[in-house]
Amino acid sequence: MTVSGVLLDRDGVLNDPPVSGYVTDPADFRWLPGALSACRLLAAARIPVAIVTNQSAVGRGILTTSVLMEIHSMLQRDVGAVWPIFYCPHVPRDQCACRKPQPTLLHRAAGHLGLPVTDLVFVGDHHTDQQAAHAAGMRFYHVRTGRDSTLARSVTSFSDLAAAVTALLYEREEAGSRVARANLTPGDPTTGRRP
Ligand SMILES: [Mg+2]
Ligand SMILES: [Zn+2]
Repeated sequence: MTVSGVLLDRDGVLNDPPVSGYVTDPADFRWLPGALSACRLLAAARIPVAIVTNQSAVGRGILTTSVLMEIHSMLQRDVGAVWPIFYCPHVPRDQCACRKPQPTLLHRAAGHLGLPVTDLVFVGDHHTDQQAAHAAGMRFYHVRTGRDSTLARSVTSFSDLAAAVTALLYEREEAGSRVARANLTPGDPTTGRRP
C-alpha cells in the first residue's frame, strides 16, 4: 500500500504538552526531540501533510482562537511549510461532530489534500486517534511520545515521530522502486524470475 499523504496529531506527536495538558501560550509549545527535523523531512520530500488536533482549551475558555492561530503560525514557520491545521475547539460535553475519536476532521483534511483516505496514514499518540483513523478508514501509526498507554493491540507503533517518518519514507521508496523494477526490468526469460 502506498502512502501518498500524512496526517499528524499535534500534542504528544509534535510537541510535549505541559503537565496541565494544554498549550495556551506560544512559549508552552515545545517540540519533542527529533520531531521538528522529522517534519522538515516530510516537507522536503514534498509529501502532502495536514495536522488534525483536539483543542478543547478553546472551549474551556483558557485559550483564545487568536492565540491558537499564533501558535500554529509559529509551528508552520518552524517547519517552513504552511501545512493546513484542522482543530476541534469543543469540549467533550458539547458532543460535537468534530472532536476525535470522530473521523470528521480526518475526512476534512483528506478532502483538503485531495487524497483518498486509503492513501493516508494518521500519526497519533492517543487511543482516540486510533479510533478516529479506524472510523475514517485510514491507516494508523502510533507514536509512544504521548501519555496514553490504553491502545488496542496490534497497532503499528514507533518510539517517536522521527522513527515513524523514517519508516514512511522507506516504504514510499520501496514502493517507488518496485514500480520502477516492474516497468523497466524484463524478467529473466529462462526462469521468469525478476532480479
Ligand atoms: Mg495527542
Ligand atoms: Zn468539535
